[in-house]
Amino acid sequence: MKEFDYIIIGGGCAGLSLAYELEINEKLKDKTLAIIEPRTEYKKDKTWSFWKVSAHNFDDCVKKSWKNFTINIPKKTNYLECSNYPYQSIDSGLFYEKINNKLKENKNIYFFKNISEINSKNSFIFNSVPSIKKDHRNLWQHFCGVEIETQNNFFDDEIFNLMDFECDQRESVHFFYTLPYSKTKALVETTWLSKMNDSSQKDYDNQIKDYLENHLNLKNYKITYKEEGAIPLFYPTYEEIKNRINIGTAGGMTRLSTGYTFLNIQEHSGYICKNIENISKIKKFNIGKKYQFLDDIFLRVLRKHPEKMPDIFFKMFKSSPKTVIKFLSNKSNFLEDLSIISRMPKYIFLRELLS
Ligand SMILES: Cc1cc2nc3c(=O)[nH]c(=O)nc-3n(C[C@H](O)[C@H](O)[C@H](O)COP(=O)(O)OP(=O)(O)OC[C@H]3O[C@@H](n4cnc5c(N)ncnc54)[C@H](O)[C@@H]3O)c2cc1C
Repeated sequence: MKEFDYIIIGGGCAGLSLAYELEINEKLKDKTLAIIEPRTEYKKDKTWSFWKVSAHNFDDCVKKSWKNFTINIPKKTNYLECSNYPYQSIDSGLFYEKINNKLKENKNIYFFKNISEINSKNSFIFNSVPSIKKDHRNLWQHFCGVEIETQNNFFDDEIFNLMDFECDQRESVHFFYTLPYSKTKALVETTWLSKMNDSSQKDYDNQIKDYLENHLNLKNYKITYKEEGAIPLFYPTYEEIKNRINIGTAGGMTRLSTGYTFLNIQEHSGYICKNIENISKIKKFNIGKKYQFLDDIFLRVLRKHPEKMPDIFFKMFKSSPKTVIKFLSNKSNFLEDLSIISRMPKYIFLRELLS
C-alpha cells in the first residue's frame, strides 16, 4: 500500500485550509499528502461568518461583509459599528471549489475515501475528525438557518443582526441571527445554547416560520437554502499521539463561548505551515489559555442561569464594539479583558469562579 509524508483526515474546513496553506507556500513540492474524505461531492453546506481580525486566504469566497450590526433584547436594541473589523460571511461552496481546484494542480496530493486504503504507519497525521463522548451535561450551540428571497425589498443590507433575543427562550438560551445579503435575500437562523437532550427545541422550521411571519411581519418569501448544525461548546477528547496533531473542531479551535472557529482554523493552519519542517517537535497551538479559563466560567454561568444570558450578552456589547470584537476573537489585551469582565454581574460570576 502507498505511503505518504503527510495525511490529513477529514477534508472539511480545517483539512482543506491546511492543505491549501501548505500548497500555496510550496511545502508540497517534494512531499506527498493524502487527504481522507468520505463525502462523494462538495457542495455548499455551511456559511462561515466572523469578524475579520486577521488576514486569511479566502477573501474571494466572501459572500458579503458588513460594518454595522445590532443586538436586541425585548424592547431594547443596541446599534454597533465594526468598520475596523468587518464581519465577513464565507460561502463554503466557493471555498471548497477554490481549494479543490488548486489542490488538483499538484500531483503529490491524493484523495482517498478511507484511511484503510493507504499505509499510514510512517506518516505525520493531521486529524480533523473529533472524538466526542456522549455526555448529557455538555452544552452545544445548535441551530438551523434558511436563506430566503423576498418578493419586494425588505432588508437593510448595510446592517446585520447578531443576536435577537426577543423570542421564546423555553428556559434555555435562544436567539435569532440575520445576515441580509441584499434587500431581498437573507440568512435567518434560529440558534440555541443548550444541552441538546431536549428535542422540544428542535422544531426549527416552526421557529423560523413564526419569527419571519409574526415577528418580522414578512409574508411573501421563499426558502432557497437550508443549513443545520451543532457546534460542541466543550473540547472533544484529545489524545496525545506521536506524529499526530488534531486540527479544526477536533483540535480545540472553537471559541467555546461563541462557537467561532473559522479564523482560529486559519491561524492554526498558518502555524503548522510555518513549522512544517519541524512538525514533530512544535508546541501545541491553542487559542489562548485565558480565553479557555474565562469561557469556562461564562459557560458555567450560562448552564445555571440561562434566563440571565440575554441581559449579559446585551451588557457585554455596552463596551466599545472594537473591545468586544477583539475579546470574542481572542485578540484582546488585559485592559480590554477588564472592560468586558466589569460589565458582567459580579456576584454570579464570582460564585462560579469560586465553586
Ligand atoms: C452549519 C455550521 C455553520 C457554522 N458556522 C460557523 C460560523 O459562521 N463561523 C465560525 O467561525 N464557525 C462556524 N461553524 C463552526 C466551524 O467553523 C465549522 O464546524 C467548521 O466546518 C469546522 O471545521 P472542521 O474541519 O473541524 O470540521 P468539518 O468542516 O466538519 O470537517 C470534518 C470533515 O471530516 C470528514 N469526516 C467525517 N468522518 C470522517 C472519517 N471517519 N474519516 C475521514 N473524514 C471524515 C467530514 O466529511 C468533513 O468533511 C459552523 C459549523 C456548522 C456545523
